[in-house]
Amino acid sequence: PRPDLDLASLVRTIPDFPKPGIQFRDITTLIGDAAGFSETVRRLCTLAAVHRPDFIVAVEARGFLFGAAMATAMGLGVVPVRKAGKLPGVTIGVDYELEYGVDRLELHEGAVMPGHRVVLVDDLLATGGTILATAALMRNAGAEVAAALFVIDLPDLGGSRRLADAGLACETLIA
Ligand code: IMP
Repeated sequence: PRPDLDLASLVRTIPDFPKPGIQFRDITTLIGDAAGFSETVRRLCTLAAVHRPDFIVAVEARGFLFGAAMATAMGLGVVPVRKAGKLPGVTIGVDYELEYGVDRLELHEGAVMPGHRVVLVDDLLATGGTILATAALMRNAGAEVAAALFVIDLPDLGGSRRLADAGLACETLIA
């Protein structure tokens, strides 16, 4: 354990990606650092363990990196939530609003069952739209969402406020 490690210093900010005016937080430098990645996963696991989840639910795509590592460390399975058309089996889906237009997230039917407790994981919380859609998908499948965890919160984009208003417990490592 490296409780002293400054994870924020390992995240890069890339201006004007993917569009002019966007300051993109790039976690590839964090996960490329052995100590940084393992300490990130260790801290996420500590937050997740409190909720005694049955599964870790990871959001495409960068959420997969953290969720998969957490699941093996915790002795749990990982359930991927994917963009439309990627999962091969029968799916349930939810549409959600983007800044321009709508998008769709999908889950394999039967991947989580009524009564299961899940913890959601993604790399970054911006407006909260993605994670609220993921939470809706879990509830439609009958699972209980114990918490949503993120490596990074961008509080100025209002996601943490929206999650609080929706009653979804949320914790982040870097704000
Ligand atoms: P939200 O739905 O507005 O909260 O956006 C969060 C989603 O967009 C997550 O799946 C993130 O991976 C992705 N995202 C938005 N901004 C960034 C960024 O600056 N870096 C990395 N991912 C981002």
